[in-house]
Amino acid sequence: MTNNKKITIAIDGFSSTGKSTIAKLVAKKYNYVYVDTGAMYRAVALYGFKNGFVGKDFLDEAGLTGDLNKIDLDFKYNIDLGFAEIYLNGENVEKAIRTLEVSELVSKVAAISAVRKKLVKEQQKMGVSGGIVMDGRDIGTVVFPDAELKIYMIASAKTRAERRYQELREKGEDVDYHDVLRNVMSRDVMDSTREDSPLMKADDAIEFDNSDLTIDQQYEKICALIDKRLAS
Ligand code: C5P
Repeated sequence: MTNNKKITIAIDGFSSTGKSTIAKLVAKKYNYVYVDTGAMYRAVALYGFKNGFVGKDFLDEAGLTGDLNKIDLDFKYNIDLGFAEIYLNGENVEKAIRTLEVSELVSKVAAISAVRKKLVKEQQKMGVSGGIVMDGRDIGTVVFPDAELKIYMIASAKTRAERRYQELREKGEDVDYHDVLRNVMSRDVMDSTREDSPLMKADDAIEFDNSDLTIDQQYEKICALIDKRLAS
């Protein structure tokens, strides 16, 4: 059976709900483009940090906003890894953006409307022809309100912090579990209470709690949802 229909899949949820793991697998199966929008906000935060616009106790919003046209973001597919890595002004920053240091600054930067406006525009351009799996916080509500399939991932803060902690340790970062948990919880609050595009479930999104599901079980269930949309 051939089905050339290409849909848009929006996956939203709090940090470390496992959105990107499942999004990457699904994109591979259906030959869709996967876009990690969190990486884009992280790259802007990294730029802000490197250029002295944002730090633990300060944010120079006007300075960062004034520099937005100097921030060029690009995704390049890495065939060995099987997904696209993010480049900031020509430099591969895939590793540099995943540190706890950047995680502690990113939600502050993501609350700036001018930053959101720039990134949302770029995300909408990437998804113009469908065949895309995009994950983030506002994909089903703001970026692609007409997406054919919207998934809202949830998992307990404890499960999420444990996952993120393992991930960071595997990457060789010497982090403390309680710092990771604190970061996950503080980003939850900031991301869901900010004025511009707060994280919320779109009315037509399917809530998907993966706290007690293996990756295989999640993959199976999400593929079934996609197949249903493709057949309709
Ligand atoms: O998905 P990830 O945890 O890497 O995202 C990092 C941060 O980027 C989030 O905590 C949030 O502040 C911001 N973000 C956002 N909107 C998106 C994706 C991420 O505000 N669509």
